[in-house]
Amino acid sequence: MSELLQNYFAGRWQSGNGKGTTLVDPVLGTELVRVDSTGHDLAAGFAFARAAGGAALRAMSYAQRAEALVAAVKVLQAHRETYYEIATANSGTVRNDSAIDIDGGIYTLSTYARLGAGLGDRKFLLDGEPQRLGKEPLFQSQHVQVPTRGVALFINAFNFPSWGLWEKAAPALLSGVPVIVKPATATAWLTQRMVKDVVDAGVLPAGALSVICGSSAGLLDQLQPFDLVSFTGSAETASIIRACPTVIRHSVRLNVEADSLNSALLVEGAAAGSEAFDLLCKEVAREMTQKSGQKCTAIRRVFVPEALYGAAAEAIGARLSKTSVGNPRNDSVRMGALVSRAQLASVREGLATLRQVTDVLHDSDGRPFVDVDADVACCVGPTLLGSRAPDSADRVHDTEVFGPVATLMPYRDAEHARALIERGHGSLAVSVFGDDFGACAETAASLAASHGRVHVVTPDVGATHTGHGNVMPQSLHGGPGRAGGGEELGGLRALDFYHRRSAVQASTEVLSKFGPAQARE
Ligand code: NAP
Repeated sequence: MSELLQNYFAGRWQSGNGKGTTLVDPVLGTELVRVDSTGHDLAAGFAFARAAGGAALRAMSYAQRAEALVAAVKVLQAHRETYYEIATANSGTVRNDSAIDIDGGIYTLSTYARLGAGLGDRKFLLDGEPQRLGKEPLFQSQHVQVPTRGVALFINAFNFPSWGLWEKAAPALLSGVPVIVKPATATAWLTQRMVKDVVDAGVLPAGALSVICGSSAGLLDQLQPFDLVSFTGSAETASIIRACPTVIRHSVRLNVEADSLNSALLVEGAAAGSEAFDLLCKEVAREMTQKSGQKCTAIRRVFVPEALYGAAAEAIGARLSKTSVGNPRNDSVRMGALVSRAQLASVREGLATLRQVTDVLHDSDGRPFVDVDADVACCVGPTLLGSRAPDSADRVHDTEVFGPVATLMPYRDAEHARALIERGHGSLAVSVFGDDFGACAETAASLAASHGRVHVVTPDVGATHTGHGNVMPQSLHGGPGRAGGGEELGGLRALDFYHRRSAVQASTEVLSKFGPAQARE
C-alpha cells in the first residue's frame, strides 16, 4: 500500500486513522500516496493554531514576519526539484505549467516578504489620518487595522496546490494570522510537502502553519467569531460553505474564489493579420493549452468583430494544431494531462453540452497522444468551438468547461460585445486587444465593473505583458457575481482581509502614541 501522508496539526505531525484516499498519477495511472484526515482532535488543532501560532505571530512586527517569509522562500527554493517531480507525477503537467504553480507561488511569497519589510517595526496599521470630532483638534478619530485574533482556514482547489497555498498564506502570515490549509484531495501531495519543508525548517513559529489533507468533514464546525475562511473551488461548494450554520452564526468572514467564464475581446478597428489580431490569437491558444485549460482565469469565451470570425477561427486553430499532447516526461510534449479521471469525465460532459449550441472549429481530429496509454492517461486535445448566434447560445455563457476548451463568437458593435461579456455574470479576468489606445481605455473602464482584472494588450506591450491568465501579486485577483465576489492579492490590499478595522476615538495626545503611519506601497 502507498505511503500515508501525515498532517501537521496541533503542533505535531500525526496520521489519520482511516484507510485514506489514494492519489493517482493522471498520466500513468499508478498509485502515489494516500491522504486521510479522520480521527484528529479538530478542536485542539484549531485552538493550538489560534493560541500558540496567533500569539507568536502577533508578537512579531511586520518586518520580522517578512523576514520569516524570506526564510520560507529560501527553504522552498532549496527543494524546487522535488516539487517539480511531485507536480509531474500528481498533476500531469509539463515543466512550464508546473512552473506557473511552483515558481508562481514562491514569487508571490517573496513579493509579500518585500512588501512586509516596507511596513517596518509596527505591529498594527494606521488607516488614514486622524479626523477631528469637534471644532478643535483635541478629540479625534483614528482608524486602525489590527490582525484578527482567529485562525485562517484555507480550503483550496486542485489546480494550484502550490500557488493556491502561498498566495493566501503570504498575506495571512504577514498580517500575523495563523493558517490551516486543507488542499483539494486530488493534488494534496505538493501542498503537504511544501508545508512539511517549511515546518521542519523551523522558520515559522509553532502553530503558524498547519496542513490537513483528506476530507474537509468537521473543519467548518470549528470556526469561531474571529476566524476567517478563504475558499477556492466550484460555485457549488462555495454555496455549501456560505450556508454553513457555523459560518452564519459567527459571522465568519468568508472569501470566495469560484469559477468564471472569462473573456478575450478584440476591439473594433483591428484588421485580420494586424498585430493586435495576432496577439489575441496567440493568447487564446496559450490560455486554452496552459495547464490543459485548468486555470480559473483561463479564457473561455472569445469575442471578435463579425467580419473577423472566420479569420480568427483559422488563426487560433493553426496555433492549436501545433500543440502536442501526452506524457509530460517526453520533451516533445507541450500539454500534459487533466488532473484525474473525474476531471476527464467532467470535461467530456461539458464539451458535449457546449457542442449542442456550437460548431467545432478545431479539434485534435484523432491525433494520437504522445507516449501514453490512451485508455489510462487523462489526456484531451484542445477544442475551439464557435457560435455565430451568441445571443441565443445560453450554455456558452454559463458552462465552465475546466479544460482546453474555448468558444469563439462574433459581435456587432462595442455595446453588443459588452452585453455578451456580461452574460458571464461577473468574471475574474477579461483581456482586451486592440491598437487604438483610446478605444482600449474606454473598453477597459466599461468592463471593470464586472471583472476583478482587465488585461489590456496593445502592440507596444505585445512582448512584455504578463499574460491574460497569470495572476500577479501586485494586481487584484477575484471577481464579482459568479466569480465568487472575493478579493485576493492586489499588493498590500490583501492584508485587509486578515485585519480588523476599528475606529479609536481619543485625545490627540493618546493617538500620537500610535506613532507615525507606516509607508504604503
Ligand atoms: P471543488 O470541488 O469545489 O473543491 C474545492 C475544495 O473544496 C476542495 O478542497 C474540496 O475538497 C473542498 N470541498 C468539497 N466539498 C466540500 C464541502 N462540502 N465542504 C467543504 N469543503 C469542500 O472545486 P475543485 O474541483 O477542486 O476546483 C475546480 C474549480 O475551482 C473550478 O470551477 C475553478 O474555476 C475553480 N477555481 C477558482 C479559482 C479562483 O481563484 N477563482 C482558482 C482555482 C480554481 P476535496 O478535494 O477533498 O473534495
